[in-house]
Amino acid sequence: MSGDRHCLIGMTPEQIAEALGLKAFQGRQIFHWLHNKGVFDFDAMTNLAKPLRERLTTECAARDMRVAAVQASEHADAAKLLFDLRDGEKVESVLLRDGDRVTLCLSSQAGCPLNCAFCATGASGFRRNLDAGEIVGQALLLVPGDDEGGETGHDAARWTGEGLCPSPGLTPAKAEGPLQTNTWRCAPRAE
Ligand code: SF4
Repeated sequence: MSGDRHCLIGMTPEQIAEALGLKAFQGRQIFHWLHNKGVFDFDAMTNLAKPLRERLTTECAARDMRVAAVQASEHADAAKLLFDLRDGEKVESVLLRDGDRVTLCLSSQAGCPLNCAFCATGASGFRRNLDAGEIVGQALLLVPGDDEGGETGHDAARWTGEGLCPSPGLTPAKAEGPLQTNTWRCAPRAE
């Protein structure tokens, strides 16, 4: 939940349908808009009936994180995004382009417990694991969906910093939307 609303980005199609008392196909439709098309505006989900769109707007949040800052390289082949999470935590993600390949480095934890001497993240300590929606949300906000000219194929997702202590949120995140293997190839370190 995001406040008193259901936050849908971390849910499977089945979980969306169950949480809202919908038919299974409606859960799949909503999931497809969020994860495959990158559409977060419920009113733009045009194959949903208007009463359902209105209900989603009232009862749900598509995601509960926002982009706080963007740094892009001069040649647009790299970008770093800073995200504000619902509890005020901040995490960063990086997008790297090499020809038609795109690699994402996603955060799976706020802070890091390993405290490497050279690293500012480690110096800040470990605060919490991210949930699946927060991990998938980074990918969706880094890369536009199909409706916005999004990229597919030859892509990889990996996780920054915390490979020795993976977040429980990684497993459902890798099973969902843009991190599914038909679109994204998870780097071996993330398996
Ligand atoms: S594991 Fe990575 S993120 Fe964690 S403290 Fe070491 S360098 Fe920083």
